[in-house]
Parts: sequence; C-alpha cells; structure tokens
Amino acid sequence: MTTHWESLLRPPSEARWVSLLDDEGPATGRRPSGRARAGGRRSRTPGSPPDAAPRKPALRRRPGGFVAGLLWTGAAVATAGCWADLPDVASTADGLAWLGRLTGLLAGYGAAILVALMARIPYLDRTIGSDRLSRWHALGGRGTLALSVAHMVFAMAARAVGSGVWEGTFGLVLYGPGILEATVSLALLLAVGLISARAIRSRMSYEAWHHAHFLTYLAIYLGFAHQLTGPSFGGVGAWAWRGLYLGVAALLLWHRFAVPVMRSRRHRLRVAGLRRESDDVVSVYIAGDDLARLGAEPGQFFRWRFLTEGMWWAANPYSLSAVPSGRHLRITVKAAGAHSRALFSLTPGTRVWAEGPYGALTAARSRSSRILLIAGGVGISPLRALFESMPGQVTLLYLARTVEDLVLRGELDAIAAARGARVHYTVNEDLTVPLTGRSLSRAIPDLADHDVFVCGPRGMTRKALHALRRAGVPKRQIHLENFDF
Ligand SMILES: Cc1cc2nc3c(=O)[nH]c(=O)nc-3n(C[C@H](O)[C@H](O)[C@H](O)COP(=O)(O)OP(=O)(O)OC[C@H]3O[C@@H](n4cnc5c(N)ncnc54)[C@H](O)[C@@H]3O)c2cc1C
Repeated sequence: MTTHWESLLRPPSEARWVSLLDDEGPATGRRPSGRARAGGRRSRTPGSPPDAAPRKPALRRRPGGFVAGLLWTGAAVATAGCWADLPDVASTADGLAWLGRLTGLLAGYGAAILVALMARIPYLDRTIGSDRLSRWHALGGRGTLALSVAHMVFAMAARAVGSGVWEGTFGLVLYGPGILEATVSLALLLAVGLISARAIRSRMSYEAWHHAHFLTYLAIYLGFAHQLTGPSFGGVGAWAWRGLYLGVAALLLWHRFAVPVMRSRRHRLRVAGLRRESDDVVSVYIAGDDLARLGAEPGQFFRWRFLTEGMWWAANPYSLSAVPSGRHLRITVKAAGAHSRALFSLTPGTRVWAEGPYGALTAARSRSSRILLIAGGVGISPLRALFESMPGQVTLLYLARTVEDLVLRGELDAIAAARGARVHYTVNEDLTVPLTGRSLSRAIPDLADHDVFVCGPRGMTRKALHALRRAGVPKRQIHLENFDF
C-alpha cells in the first residue's frame, strides 16, 4: 500500500503543450514537438463557450495608499513644531538652523519608519506585500540618508555663520551635545548606504550584505541619543518621540523574534521528505503540529531556517508550492546559491524554524472571477498553490527556458483536468520573448477582465507587466511577486 509520503514523493507524469509564439511565427525561441503543439491547440478550440460573464472588478481602496497617507501625516505631525517656528526666522544663521532642524526631524522620523517597514508586521505584509515594503524601505533609506547629510550640512553652516568656521565644524563635533554619537551614526549610515548601492551589493553575498545591514540598528540608536539633545525635544515632544522609537522597537522585537520563537515551539516543524523535481529543483516537505494555526495561504512564503550545520544562521524566503494542509507544508526550490543548494541534502527530521507566513500574492487580491497566472521558471512555486485553490475560471501560462525546467507538470495537468482549467506551457531560452501584449491577448480571450498573478525572475515580471498593460489589463488587476527583494 502506498503511504501518504510515497504518493507525494512519486516522480511527475505526462505534460501538454502550447506555444504563445504560434501566432507570431517561429522567429524567436525553440518550438516543442508536433505532438505537444497538437495538444496546445486543443485548449484553445475556437467557439468553445466562454464561462459566465466576467464580473467587473470593484474599485478597491488601495492599502498602500492608505498606509502611505498615514506615514506622510506622521511626518507632518513630527515637524509641526518646526513649521510653527518658521515666522521667527530672522537671519541667515536662523534660516540655516531652521533647515537643519527640519531635515534632522525628518531624518529621525524616517529612520524609525524604515525599521517599522521591515519589522514584518502582518497587516503591512499582507496588504502591501514584502517586495513592495522592501522597495519602500530602499527608497526611504536613500531619502533618510540624504536628509541626515543635509541636516549635518545645515547645522554646521548655521553654526559657522553664527560663530565662525572652527566653531561650526570641529568645535561642534568635539564639544556639541551628542554630536560625536551623531557623527558615528552618520558614518555608519553612509557605509550601509554605500554597500546597498546595486553596483557594490551585486558583488557581495546576500548574507554578507544582510549582516552588514544590521549596523543600521547601531546607527539609529546613536542617532536617537543625539536627537533628544535637539531644540525640538522639550516636554511632550520628547515623550512622543520616545514613544515612536520604543513603539517601533517593540514591534520589531515582537514580530521578528518573539513570534518566530513561539511558533517554532508550538508547531515543532521538521523536514519530512524531499522530492527531486529536476536536476536543480527539489521539493521539501515540512511536517509539524497544528499547522492550520499558522494561517498560511496559497501564494504566501515563509523565511525558512533549517537547524542543521551550515544553514542554521540563514533564513531564506521560499514560497509554498502546494496548498497548506494540516499534515504538511511544501516548498519547491531551484538551486541558485549556497543555501538553496544545501536544501538538496537535507535529511528527514531536521528541525525547521519558519518565520511567517508573509506575502500578499494571495486570492484576496483578486476581484474578478477570471484569473490568469503567469509563471516563469521556479516562479511556478506560489502559482502552483494558487492554481489549485483559486476560485473562478483560472488559466495558467507556464514559461521556462528548457523542458526540464517545467517542474510539477504532472500536478498541474491533474489540477487542470480536475477543475476544467487551462494550462499553457511555453519553452524559450529567453523567458521574456513570448510575453507581448499581442500574444497574450490571442492566447487569453477577454484578457482585460482577468486578475493576473505573475511570479518569476525580475526581468520576466517587468516584461509581463508591460505586455499586460499593452493588452489593456488595468494596473490594479496585476499582482507581481519577484523572487528577489
Ligand atoms: C518572496 C520570495 C519567495 C521566494 N520563493 C522561492 C521559491 O519558492 N523557490 C525558489 O527556488 N526560490 C524562491 N525565492 C528565491 C530564493 O529565496 C533565493 O533564490 C535564495 O534565497 C537564494 O539563496 P542562496 O544562498 O541559494 O543564493 P545566493 O547566491 O546567496 O543568493 C542569490 C540571490 O537570492 C537572493 N537572496 C539570497 N538570500 C536571500 C534572503 N535571505 N532573502 C532574500 N533574498 C535572498 C538575493 O537576491 C541573491 O542575490 C524566493 C525569494 C523571495 C524574495
């Protein structure tokens, strides 16, 4: 008798093909064999009655806009006292000092918000999404750094205009209250900013960059000590500012440390088995207690920490590649570097820490009953889970560079057969080639009425977004997940 794990670990079955290039000729990309082409045509038999008339997607409040509005309001409140003092500016030195104060307040506020954005607060993560939060964090980081440098320049210039260059520079650093801390803080922020520049970051391993990034916590701590010596912080203002920083610190400690520890103790996750999907892709099955209480949804990911040699210190994000069940969770991973490669030699019983669930690429995002899933390579992972569970009329486009890269085909075909959905496979050396507005519109009738979920390498998702927009799909109906933050 086949055990639960044996039936899951059995190798994949037959597949069916269609090429998005059919209508645009063979100019670019390899074409699959004749038999597969025949199969492809079948799924787009002309005259097949469309399903029920698509529901017009309701206009929805954009949580991103709401949260962004809150953050800007916070910035206005944080600088209100400063703006109120503007009429008192009577000289150049005053003006420079005022600008120094404004930029200092905004930099201090910005630093607190940057940490809050990465504190893994579930509401922010579910509504805005980790990749968008990371982009806000990177953008805000550059802004906060620029404000910190401007603050230093204006403060020094004000002092120099008022009391002479020496007083305004070295005198200020050596004798000013909390200025030495502020100088070290700014130097640390500049260093982290520098290594986060794409040209330098791409030359570092993710771990080295990630660990160096922790220096920002020291920089923020030193900066906070300096801020409280500032003219804006008497009485209520000082308490409100402490409240902001202590609040963010509490959120960070709770969501990034306390919750993962509590969950790990409650769910006692461990590796249950591995299944090789191809030469460089493996599925890892993770068993545990009370899994339903994790509240994971198809489309989401966790940051996984495997408590074994050479892996325990890294927590890498991998999406769930099957609908979470009470018995196990599954991830499907392509070997990209040290951590993902090490998964291939995990042994059953290895303890696992899972931080999450995270991510906003879930069914809750869609408003239409027509769904298109576009997967590139191992980006199939979260979309495989959505393909099985998403309500409505679902179509899957699965692009890969080689036939071998089309992993999980047996499951996808079984799901398609079971729910009467369509799955299109396309193989092309360059994943972006098949993605044009014209080929997508030809392959998917009423494309503009679909909610579209796209997951894959950044170049492919960018091209898909462009093609979908060209095909008339409204931006609010396109949901992207990139596999790099
Ligand atoms: C939300 C999300 C979901 C993902 N889901 C899957 C999945 O289901 N299957 C799959 O094969 N891959 C997935 N990835 C990609 C996967 O996380 C990386 O390929 C893996 O972490 C690479 O680590 P490495 O040590 O093997 O390679 P490295 O050479 O160290 O890293 C390769 C690249 O992966 C990224 N990366 C590395 N470590 C991390 C980290 N801790 N956090 C964020 N990014 C990192 C960096 O951009 C790095 O440049 C996902 C990524 C994200 C952001």
